[in-house]
Amino acid sequence: MVNYKELGLVNTRDMFARAIKGGYAIPAFNFNNMEQLQAIIKAAVETKSPVILQVSKGARNYANQTLLRYMAEGAVEYAKELGCEKPEIVLHLDHGDSFELCKSCVDMGFSSVMIDGSHLPYEENVALTKKVVEYAHQYDVTVEGELGVLAGVEDEVSAEHHTYTNPEEVIDFATRTGCDSLAISIGTSHGAYKFKPEQCHVDPATGRLVPPPLAFEVLDAVMEKLPGFPIVLHGSSSVPQEYVDMINQYGGKLEAAIGIPEDELRKAAKSAVCKINIDSDSRLAMTAAVRKVFAEKPAEFDPRKYLGPARDEMEKLYKHKILNVLGSNDKLA
Ligand SMILES: [Zn+2]
Repeated sequence: MVNYKELGLVNTRDMFARAIKGGYAIPAFNFNNMEQLQAIIKAAVETKSPVILQVSKGARNYANQTLLRYMAEGAVEYAKELGCEKPEIVLHLDHGDSFELCKSCVDMGFSSVMIDGSHLPYEENVALTKKVVEYAHQYDVTVEGELGVLAGVEDEVSAEHHTYTNPEEVIDFATRTGCDSLAISIGTSHGAYKFKPEQCHVDPATGRLVPPPLAFEVLDAVMEKLPGFPIVLHGSSSVPQEYVDMINQYGGKLEAAIGIPEDELRKAAKSAVCKINIDSDSRLAMTAAVRKVFAEKPAEFDPRKYLGPARDEMEKLYKHKILNVLGSNDKLA
């Protein structure tokens, strides 16, 4: 058993309280490899932002859970080496799907876990979330629950259609489970294909597809029921068209990839939404940069020569999100 405090990590409680009060959101970036982690930490340190490092079940399977834990521990030391005296870094399990998985993460040093029982019947979701909360809170680990189902595919999480969160259920859910934050469904979606072209309209100025707006009325109703309670948005990549274009220009084949417009995320960040999950955008940045090197320098075979530029591109993306979308810069305690 390792407690996250020994690793220099923090849970989400205090940073969420400050984020709600301050009208900004904390970035939750997924990581699977060293370059991604370096880019996240550099961006967070340089912008003086708290940050949530997310590990999905897929990342655990890909990179090994023990190695990821030590990488997060290393990330704290790396942030200090970069000049951040008191980094605020959370190690969070994204989409935990069982009590056992959440327990194993708590036991190995995670400071926050998500238990996603959103696919279960309501009473089963309540019971499972409550069980995880009771275990995690013994070690001061914070817990994110989920109500409502997001559409899209991300790692092993997938659903054909989304179901908006029912605002009538949120008080009951939060009170009975004791969860620290709640992921809700208001029309965001996992992956790089968040909307079908027929759901969108064409912007006459750019010729680009514009997706339908998020259901802010659902968010407003949730905030009315649970004033000041931390809300989480999953599936909030904006799928920057310049990366999609770059990937396609250099031999890729992404068709009609569509994300959440950054204006909508900016608006959400000012509300009780205090954690915004971004994964696909960093995948796109990395892939675009790697494809560019391969296309322009076909003789290159030193991985540092293509993973290096990929790391730079991801860092640029993370900084942009922190500074221009979430507003979490200069918010260290
Ligand atoms: Zn998610």
